[in-house]
Amino acid sequence: EHIANQIAAGEVVERPSSVVKELVENAIDAGATKIEVLIEEGGLELIRVVDNGSGIDPEDCEAAFYRHATSKLLSGRDLFQIRSLGFRGEALPSIAAVSKVRLLSSNNDTGLGQAVVIEGGTLKENEQTAAPKGTDITIKELFYNTPARLKYMKTIQTELGHVSDVMYRQALAHPEIAFILRHNGNTLLQSQGGGDMLQVIASIYGINTSKKMVSISSENLDYIISGYIGLPELTRSNRGGMSTIVNGRYIRNQGLHQAILRAYHTLLPINRYPLVVLMLDMHPSLVDVNVHPAKLEVRFSKEAELNAFVEDSIRRLLSEQVL
Ligand code: ADP
Ligand code: MG
Repeated sequence: EHIANQIAAGEVVERPSSVVKELVENAIDAGATKIEVLIEEGGLELIRVVDNGSGIDPEDCEAAFYRHATSKLLSGRDLFQIRSLGFRGEALPSIAAVSKVRLLSSNNDTGLGQAVVIEGGTLKENEQTAAPKGTDITIKELFYNTPARLKYMKTIQTELGHVSDVMYRQALAHPEIAFILRHNGNTLLQSQGGGDMLQVIASIYGINTSKKMVSISSENLDYIISGYIGLPELTRSNRGGMSTIVNGRYIRNQGLHQAILRAYHTLLPINRYPLVVLMLDMHPSLVDVNVHPAKLEVRFSKEAELNAFVEDSIRRLLSEQVL
């Protein structure tokens, strides 16, 4: 059972950032409005995620670590309409197989909750304890029992870079949630929540957005487009500042990138890239988010129409601003 878990873990848990992604998605699924992520040594030493979400029923805390015990996956049809982020029911079992986990969770306001400790997939503790409502999960010594995997880890800076990326994407996709990321005690991200996208952009890119970001707003029968695009003084030398969010989920899609760039480059320098956060909302039947759950790719059913609409909307907006 343990070995099976370790093998499966390799697919879900590639590096510290994959753990952060899974834990933060669970916190989002739980309806948290504040999610704090504390990591040490790029996440290899410690990852702690504290949320103020629904918490877990004391009776379910141990079961959350058993494979598929809680899978949100219902049927093939749901794959096309899924809204909740987690649907595989294997993140916690996989993480617990290759680390030392302490889960503290309460689903009520009595001040009491449950503490579960699992090391390398083995249950060490499961008892009632004092806990505020929400979930506080700590992952220590990731890959301590899988030296082959540990050997693949890069420098602390590289692992930290991946963790930061995961946090930036979640903060952009969820401006309604307050996110904090601290590494070895230093605050690297602090978004305020409350839906203020400009504040999220400012906190990630360290810029004063007030006069330099133009709001995007456009809609037709199929799509609602919103977000922000930077004016020329915010252009960048690479695509690292281009974010696309579909139905509240950070995604990557080559066609959308190209559509944005076509619009941008008719007006602005060809060798530069915009700082842009493009949010698209559409009926779930127009997008297949499950091309690969761990990656960020999606497929649109009316791709050409969508790309044309995005290109057109941004071109019109920029021509008003720039000319
Ligand atoms: P999945 O998210 O695919 O269901 P996970 O292994 O990530 O599987 O989590 C297992 C279950 O544990 C979840 O379905 C949820 O019920 C519970 N859970 C995990 N993290 C949290 C959290 N932060 N808040 C509330 N419930 C949680
Ligand atoms: Mg999950």
